[in-house]
Amino acid sequence: MAPEREERTHAERTPADAPRRQPVVLIAEDNVDNLGLLVDYLSTRGFRLIPSTTGREAVRLALSEGPDLVIMDIQMPDMDGLEAIKQIRSDPRLAATPIIALTALAMVGDRERCLDAGATAYVSKPVGMRQLSDLLWSYV
Ligand code: MN
Repeated sequence: MAPEREERTHAERTPADAPRRQPVVLIAEDNVDNLGLLVDYLSTRGFRLIPSTTGREAVRLALSEGPDLVIMDIQMPDMDGLEAIKQIRSDPRLAATPIIALTALAMVGDRERCLDAGATAYVSKPVGMRQLSDLLWSYV
């Protein structure tokens, strides 16, 4: 009977057709132009963005929102990204959350400082948007 078949087909299809949950990405970047570009692009790549322009705000939002992923600029005026990463990592609920550090400084030791602070990965500016998106998706 057609109606039964339709029902069964619908039930079988439901899991695969269910909308994929958008990973929530907290992004901290004090340069509002860069922040806007990243938010706009990553929104088109399937993420839901929580923007932040300061390290302190990023820590507060990480604790309150429990994002799936964090993008953390390192050079920020009030609290730098390294300190913000350490504070985020000190909360057991966020101990395993992937954190991608962004920095404009391509100095020797930057990578180690970011990873020592608790970053999962490190990306040098200027950031390749597609590369960053692919990296984020590899962690969800
Ligand atoms: Mn900055």
